Order: sequence, then C-alpha cells, then structure tokens
Amino acid sequence: MENHVPSNKTKEVNIDFGFDNTFACQLTEFAVPCSAEIVPHPSLIKINRKLARELGLSVDALETSQGTEIFSGNKVPIGAAPLAQAYAGHQFGNFSPQLGDGRALLLGEIVNAQGYRYDVQLKGSGRTPFSRGGDGKAALGPVLREYLVSEAMHALGVPTTRALAAVTTGESVYREVPIPGAVLTRTAASHLRIGTFQFFAARQNTEMVKKLADYAISRHYPAVQDSSNVYLDFFKAVAKAQALLVAHWMSIGFIHGVMNTDNTSISGETIDYGPCAFMDRYDPMTVFSSIDLHGRYAYAKQPSILAWNLARFAETLIPITDTDEDRAIRLLTSAIDEASSQCQREWDRRMCAKIGLNSNNKNDTNIISNLLELMQEGNADFTNTFRHLSDALRKGKRSARKQFQNPATFDLWEKRWIEQIKKEPISMDTCANQMDQINPAYIPRNHKVEEVLSAAINNSDFKLFENMLALLATPFDEEKGHEEFAMPAPVSSVPYKTFCGT
Ligand code: AMP
Ligand code: MG
Repeated sequence: MENHVPSNKTKEVNIDFGFDNTFACQLTEFAVPCSAEIVPHPSLIKINRKLARELGLSVDALETSQGTEIFSGNKVPIGAAPLAQAYAGHQFGNFSPQLGDGRALLLGEIVNAQGYRYDVQLKGSGRTPFSRGGDGKAALGPVLREYLVSEAMHALGVPTTRALAAVTTGESVYREVPIPGAVLTRTAASHLRIGTFQFFAARQNTEMVKKLADYAISRHYPAVQDSSNVYLDFFKAVAKAQALLVAHWMSIGFIHGVMNTDNTSISGETIDYGPCAFMDRYDPMTVFSSIDLHGRYAYAKQPSILAWNLARFAETLIPITDTDEDRAIRLLTSAIDEASSQCQREWDRRMCAKIGLNSNNKNDTNIISNLLELMQEGNADFTNTFRHLSDALRKGKRSARKQFQNPATFDLWEKRWIEQIKKEPISMDTCANQMDQINPAYIPRNHKVEEVLSAAINNSDFKLFENMLALLATPFDEEKGHEEFAMPAPVSSVPYKTFCGT
C-alpha cells in the first residue's frame, strides 16, 4: 500500500497533547502512516472546552490559530503519529475485505489524569490509501450533525465517541453540489471495531487476530486476562457491552441506522453518526436512512442485527477460542444467545425505570408493551409520552394523554399504571423526580438539527448550533423559552431521510 508521506516534523506545532501511541507502536500491521491534506483557510467553529480539559489539554493553546491548524490537519501536535487504520466489514450484509479509514486519521492516544485512554482522530482530513473512490473529505452538515448528536448522546448517558472540535476548511466539497468542507476531531475509547478483527480473519491470519485480541483485551477488558478461556471471555465482554448499548439506544428512541460490522465498536461505544436519528412518533419499523431500503436497521431490528454482527465477530475468534472448532462454535454461539438475553433484560429494566417501576414485577413488562402498542396506534411521540408521564404523579396533571390521537384508551392504561406505581416503595414525588432523570425533555429532533445545519451551511450562522448544543448538554432539565426544541416535527408528507458517508 502506498505511503502518504508522514513528514511530521515540518508540520509539528508547539502544542503538546502528551500522546502515548500504543496502536501506532504495537499494531503496525493494522495501519498505514499517513498525513492529512493541506486545506486553504481553516477556521474554528467550536472547541469542546469541557472535553479538552478532561483530556488534560490546554484550551488557551487550542484556541489559537495553531490549534485551528491542528484541528484542520494542516499541522500536528507534538508526538502525533498520524495513521489510517485498516479494517474490513459487513455492510448491509455484504462483506468488504478492505474498508479502512478512507477519510479519517488517528493522530494519537491521550491518557488523562484519571487514567482513561482516548484516541484523537480527525475525520474529513483528506485521502488515505483506504479512500477508494472517495475524496477523503467531510462536509460541514455531517460534521455539525455528528458533533451535536454525539454530544447529546453523551449527555444522555450513552457510551459514545465524542466531539472535541470542528473547523471549516475554506474549500468546497462536492456532494452533487458544492458545500463547505469541514473537519471533525473526535475522541473514542478506541476505534477498534468488529471490522478490525475481520480484516485479518478474512486473510486467514490467525496470528494477527490473536495479536489484535490481546491488544483489545489489555486496552478495554483487562479483567479477562485472568480467565481460563481468555478469548471466549473477551468475546462475552464485548457482546455484553454492545447488548447494554443497544438497549440504551432503544430506550431513548435512537436508531443508529448503519449497524455494519465496521461501525460496531469493541469498546461498546456508539460510533458513526452518519444516518442515525431519533424517532418522533413511536413505530418499531422506523427507518430514516435513505439507503436502508429494506429496513434492515429499523428501530426494533437493532437487537437482532447486533446478534448477527456478534456472530460475524465470533467467526473471527473461532481459531483462538478452542482447538476443537466445534466446541469453539458451541461456546461462542451460546455467548451470542446470552448477549441477546442481556439486551432484552436491559431493555426491560430501562423501560420499567422510564415508567417509574423499579421493583421488577412480572406485570411491569406487560404494562410496557401495552403502552407501546397504544403509542403506535395513537401516533404518540416517543420522547414526550415518557417525559410527560411523571406529571400525573407530581401535579396530577395528566399531560401525557395529549400525545395520543385517541386519549381514552391511554386513560385506561394510565389508571392501571398508577395502581402499579402505588406498590413501589417510594413516594410518588420521588418516583416522578427519578423518572425525569431518565426521560429526556430534549433530544436532537430531526427538524431542529436540519435548521441548525441549514443556518450554518447557507448563512455561516452558528448561533443555532451553539444554542442547541447548550440545551442538549442538560437534556433532563426543562428550560423556559425552549419549548420548540421539545416539539415533534410538524406533520409532513415527506418522510425524514438521512444519508451515509457524506
Ligand atoms: P461509513 O459510512 O462512515 O461507515 O464509511 C464506510 C467506509 O467508506 C469507510 O471505509 C470510510 O472510510 C469510507 N468513506 C466514507 N466516506 C468517504 C469519503 N468521503 N472518502 C473516502 N472514503 C470514505
Ligand atoms: Mg463508519
């Protein structure tokens, strides 16, 4: 593979990220050293100051023109070892033996004061040996979208990659029409994916799969190092992290939209915010992605797709799980089944908590499925129905019923629910307060995200972006004057669509 000249020294600026680059040093077979393309006029949109501080970075240093040069890829901080990672992946069920970072570069890893290790990655920094026909660039819209939605997910308590900074590049990228180019700097516990394992598994290189597994174990799941079957327990740990993640997504109405194996992280973080979106009215078959024609990644299909992805991951580990292949397959298969049960149990737990039922009564999950049925029939907004339920406990206000086209059926449900709530060992007030810390008032509503993006793209106006970002940082606290952010999209004859890889 061609090397894209890592002429680091000439590009280094005097800002130190304190990089400690284990991937670059230990997994050379999984990456190609590579430089970002120079862009003409980088301009800072936003630095995530809080995150920068958590990483131990100097905000003052980053908020200089040198910082902007770093976030555009024109310069690198001291000690960076920029590289494009290799990975493969199943996309919509079809295997591609070579995908890799076609528009991203890992700059390096930071270990913060708490001892957590983070990748710092540029996205949209130009072509790499993995770019295939793509331009390696990112457009302003998707960069802002990922910034907003990933930070919203973080504030909602969901494990996720995060946005550290966004810049415009001063050049246009072409997506049918010219649009402003941008670069996102994101952080992640790591960028290891199921697809990273598939890269060498597809090449029947068991030694490399083992090397990667050992690296992933020491980075993410060190506890399994002492187990009697290290690789099986590694698989179980990843499967559990993913099971909990998918249940968490679903409990807030999140649809990832492109659950390909290259977008399924080993650490259990949400990664790849291309076509994701939150659903407004509840419909389990909701799909937003323009290319997901058959609803493969629809809201309710996410647990079964996770199991499918885990099966692809398991295949890569068969040779190192047991010398007896049949036994390895049996063990891994039962671990996948266990992950599916974990996902179901976590969904039950989270959904019960959303309606204030934490005592694990058998009836509770029944109540949840009844409510979801009524919501679907009544075109009820997912987020607002749950958010407004607590009003009935605190103020006796019964505002959730307004979400339903046919509130009378909801009224019956609500009566039954309140009877259940009375059996809980806490006061109604406490229960209502707890519910409000689980059911967000604000999610990145699709039509609001679009407003933010068009103001930025068409008028270089980032005020809306700032406002929405600030609001989504505390999604459980209602703020006067921001009611419009809690409203579902106006009814439209054109279904909302999202796009991949833009
Ligand atoms: P994604 O849709 O982000 O999961 O990307 C799937 C694959 O396409 C990855 O290998 C990306 O690096 C690659 N890719 C997406 N967009 C571009 C682009 N504009 N230029 C080069 N490669 C890209
Ligand atoms: Mg991806």
